[in-house]
Amino acid sequence: MSVKGKVAIITGSNSGIGLGVAEELARLGAKVVLNSFSDSDEDHALAERISGEHNTGVAYIQADMSDPEATRALVTKAHAKFGRVDILVNNAGIQHVAGIDEFPTEKWDAIIAINMSSAFHTTAAALPLMREQGWGRVVNIASAHGLTASPYKSAYVAAKHGVVGMTKVVALETAQEPITANAICPGYVMTPLVEKQIPETMEKYGMDRETAIKEVLLARQPSKEFATTQQIGGTVAFLCSDAAAQITGTTISVDGGWTAL
Ligand code: NAD
Repeated sequence: MSVKGKVAIITGSNSGIGLGVAEELARLGAKVVLNSFSDSDEDHALAERISGEHNTGVAYIQADMSDPEATRALVTKAHAKFGRVDILVNNAGIQHVAGIDEFPTEKWDAIIAINMSSAFHTTAAALPLMREQGWGRVVNIASAHGLTASPYKSAYVAAKHGVVGMTKVVALETAQEPITANAICPGYVMTPLVEKQIPETMEKYGMDRETAIKEVLLARQPSKEFATTQQIGGTVAFLCSDAAAQITGTTISVDGGWTAL
């Protein structure tokens, strides 16, 4: 079984990793639902571009992942649009960095809602559809911070550990069905946001590009290479393949050795 003809929802997919996953699944012939909280002409144009490039159905559906009702409605709308929901990739995420005693409550609540609770709501809405169809894949984009911690990232680390825990529960609740649930734990991935941090880091530390990347940004990534959004997309595709049918309730690190340290 391949992803060809399958319907995939990717939350938070108008940029970065989510967009990379969407493009990879579309390239392999899946029908894709793109999502973010915005509803701009660019969002819809992005869906049209990917659809045209890969000759497959692509829809952009606006939904704010901090809103439980809108989050569940994303799944219902995707089902109404394409008639099935086979693959759910929970990817939407935000970050805020501050010491725990200064961490703003509203940032904590937003990170827990978007990075963790949204995956609960989408999964709750999608599982009955996957059960009815007799096949499903839940792939949660967690992080190396789902397995390990860094200072000043309390909400992010809590949310990503929570996602890894919930992934295991979903796997156990679907263990005897043709449905799997897994989490991908990326280290540092090259995205437009990360690219933007390179000149900022060079200026802050007075370093050249290579030194800023290797010594600051990739300080904890032993490979000293960024992962790519295509590699995360390829890992999602692998988890949707027959070879991965008995892989469930686990994490796959794509982190250049970060969590081996
Ligand atoms: P990004 O900012 O490029 O993408 C985040 C996506 O989530 C965007 O499409 C954004 O519009 C969307 N989003 C944010 N708030 C939303 C909301 N309320 N409702 C709907 N969509 C919303 O960042 P990214 O680096 O591509 O991150 C994607 C995921 O990968 C996140 O969960 C992040 O924690 C995880 N991750 C990223 C890295 C990395 O190095 N880039 C490493 C590990 C894990």
